[in-house]
Amino acid sequence: MKETKDVACTTAVTISVKCNMCTKEMMTECSPEGNGASIGYNGGYDSEFIGDGVIVVFDICEECLFKIIEELKIPPSRVEYDT
Ligand SMILES: [Zn+2]
Repeated sequence: MKETKDVACTTAVTISVKCNMCTKEMMTECSPEGNGASIGYNGGYDSEFIGDGVIVVFDICEECLFKIIEELKIPPSRVEYDT
């Protein structure tokens, strides 16, 4: 048998996703998680730039992501999938 009681709970919901590079709002009706990329990186033991044990997390819109991709000397792999 389960006994119950009423409790008030709160849940964190994302209400805004802004690009860390250009500050543009990334959330749209069709892309509630943001039209772009969330990037997370955990600096390892020999990390020279971020630091050992440091985690950086940021969001970047598709336009800024495209600008970064254009700067790459080796193009990234690209996969097209059926939607
Ligand atoms: Zn941007």
